[in-house]
This record gives sequence, structure tokens and C-alpha cells, in this order.
Amino acid sequence: MDKATRLHYLEAMGIAVWVPRQRPVATMPALEETSAAENTADVGWVERSETQQTTLHTPYDDSAWNQLQHEVSLCRACGLCETRTQTVFGVGNRHAGWMLIGEAPGQNEDLQGEPFVGKAGQLLNEMLRAIGLAREEVFIANVLKCRPPANRDPQAEEVAACRDFLRRQIALLQPKIILAVGRIAAQNLLNTQQPLAKLRGRQHRLENIPLVVVHHPAYLLRALTEKAKAWDDLQFALSVYQSLQEQ
Ligand code: URA
Repeated sequence: MDKATRLHYLEAMGIAVWVPRQRPVATMPALEETSAAENTADVGWVERSETQQTTLHTPYDDSAWNQLQHEVSLCRACGLCETRTQTVFGVGNRHAGWMLIGEAPGQNEDLQGEPFVGKAGQLLNEMLRAIGLAREEVFIANVLKCRPPANRDPQAEEVAACRDFLRRQIALLQPKIILAVGRIAAQNLLNTQQPLAKLRGRQHRLENIPLVVVHHPAYLLRALTEKAKAWDDLQFALSVYQSLQEQ
């Protein structure tokens, strides 16, 4: 990647670089760094039961999307329904090639009914912009559709209760690539306790779709020095996506 492009991306992510300013490059770069194909790792989730398989729909089915959103809004499958303001279904382009999956709604998301709003959401938007994507171009969802009280970690039974909703979202969207946003999302999606450091920088699979793990923007807001690692994660995700386009 040339220097001007790298500078442009670093700036978009808020990473300070002490070099003379140059004009931003409008086009997407060809990546030269990591070979995505070499880095394949775990496959997430357990096998679906036959019943779950029959609930899947074909992609681009508006009525199925609306039905699913309606079902989510009525869900009382776990205790989180008692404390939520509203369910947070997910937002974005229902034809998107990129799907981002975070952990669970926080306070702002619970109030507004949309994932990744607030400061972490703004940084997520910048991270997306750094790889040439607008928020409106991707689909953003969470492992859980309801806020855990006081933003505690999701419990196993809550994840299990919500899993089929996410599976149906993935089946409807059929994204080319999934980004697991943060450790908790990654561990739940990949059914592993491995630390983030072991999960990032590798290509996993979820529902037979390539999945890449990226740092959570809320974590990056607390640990600004880690932004460079987030840059590497995004570059790796982009290289995986581009290698898929070439196949
Ligand atoms: N963190 C998440 O993982 N998801 C959200 O929607 C907001 C914050």
C-alpha cells in the first residue's frame, strides 16, 4: 500500500502520524500484506438441528426480514426482556456484503433501538470509513438483542436464547464476510474461550462464512495505543474480503 493511502486510513481512524500531509486517495488500495488464505482457523457455533435448518429463508426476502424483526420485538425467551427498554434488532443494508456483530446493546442502544450508537458507535463508523465503507453500506447486529443490566457480560443461556435470531439474520443477509466486534462477540460466535490476541489476525468461519475478529471500539476508546492493532485487524479483514472477490 502506498504512503498516501496508509496516511489517509490512519487519519480516518484517529491515529496520529507525524509525516507531512498529503492528498487523500479516493480509491480502495490493493493490499499487499497478509495472505488471507494462509490464516484460516476455527469454525464457530455448533451444528444446527433439523428444525432450525428448516426455519432459514432465502436472502433478500423482505417479508422474512420483517417477520424476524417482529418476532425479536416480542421475544420473552430470557430474563433480559424484563429490564430492556426495547429490543435492538440490527440496522443497515439488508443486501450488505459486510456484517458486523457486536456483543449486546448498551444503554444508548437500548434507548435508541439501534446498535452501536454513542461514542463507540462513532468510532466504529470511523473504523469502517478507514476501509472505505459507510455505516449505511453494512449490516450491524449484536449477539444479544436486549441490553444486559448494567452492561454486564452476556450469560450463556441468554446467548443460547438469542442464537436462532442471529442465525436467521445471517441466513437472510448471506454476507460475504462477518466481523466479530470485540472479544465477547468473538468468543460467543466461535464458541471458544481463547483470548482476543489469539483470535485476531486469522480467518475463522461462521455458518460457512469467513469471519474476522476486530477490536471493540469501546475498548479502543479506553486504550488509545491499541488503535494501530485495530488498523491491522481492519486491513486483514479487507484482505480477506478482497481475496473472496478474486475467487
Ligand atoms: N457494544 C456492542 O457490542 N454493541 C452495541 O450495540 C453497542 C456497544
